[in-house]
Amino acid sequence: MLFPASVAGSLPKPSWLAEPDKLWPQWKLAGPELAQAKLDATLLAIKLQEDACIDIVCDGEMSRQHFVHGFLEFVDGIDFENKVEMGIRADRYKAMVPQVRGALKLKGRVHAAEARHARAHTKHKLKITMPGPMTISDTIADCHYGDKVKMAMAFADLLNHEARALERDGLDVIQFDEPAFNVFMDEVTGWGIEALERAIDGLKCTTAVHICYGYGIKANIDWKNSLGAEWRQYEKIFPALAKSNIDQVSIECIHSHVPLQILSLLEGKDVLAGVIDVASDLIETPEEIAGVISEVMKYVPKERIVACTNCGMAPMRRTVAEGKLRALGKGASLARERFG
Ligand code: ZN
Repeated sequence: MLFPASVAGSLPKPSWLAEPDKLWPQWKLAGPELAQAKLDATLLAIKLQEDACIDIVCDGEMSRQHFVHGFLEFVDGIDFENKVEMGIRADRYKAMVPQVRGALKLKGRVHAAEARHARAHTKHKLKITMPGPMTISDTIADCHYGDKVKMAMAFADLLNHEARALERDGLDVIQFDEPAFNVFMDEVTGWGIEALERAIDGLKCTTAVHICYGYGIKANIDWKNSLGAEWRQYEKIFPALAKSNIDQVSIECIHSHVPLQILSLLEGKDVLAGVIDVASDLIETPEEIAGVISEVMKYVPKERIVACTNCGMAPMRRTVAEGKLRALGKGASLARERFG
């Protein structure tokens, strides 16, 4: 099928699970009640996507507080008690981050519960996301490895371990989120892609990398405003990504200043084209979405285009996110009618 619809990853959490409209929400429950509520919310996220005609559905990231720290909680060697302030994404924001204090090791499975629950309740293709090794390394303080690359490779091995297990759980797509790829472009070609390939090593399911300009929060909007009329960050990393083993690349299109001709550098890759703006509460029309797809078609073969959101929708209001999901399904369907 042409233009299958999918989301970048996260959806807003219901208010009975966590504080609404926040990027770092506090859970409303604890212990076994929280564990059950996460699964209930996962089921809801899947149902909403199915009803909105989203073809490749996600768990909605209902089980994690934040896309990076949701993984780190399951890693030994990290001190969460004594967080330190660090400028992340080349100082775009200051965040209180945990510190690596010893050799990194998984405590056990990370996403087994929600992945298996989601798998048991949908016949659609199922995707799960994890933070990429470069982005993790940019969101944690190192007091052990003494070398960012060495630490990133250690994280890549842990991610690979969990990814292989998720594949056995029946996941169709495993995606790594690497917003840091748009910030440290020289390092991406130097070691970032190597770390990513280590994370996907041996996987037979579809693999994806999501590279965005961030959630629609103020620090990101200010940063985007500083990037000038044309955002050419992708241009520096796409040739190397095209040569890599990754199957799919998820990127921002709608309302971004990315010159779409850059997409022609991703030859041989599926492109998850962002046709839903997560930094605006205005719901896109199917017409607008089909329009973006037709622009992307100038540079990417139509068989390789997946209609997607620009980024995760975690910090959005639920009604807005649900409206955008429905628009996405309708827009992809309109594009199918028109360009099929
Ligand atoms: Zn994103």
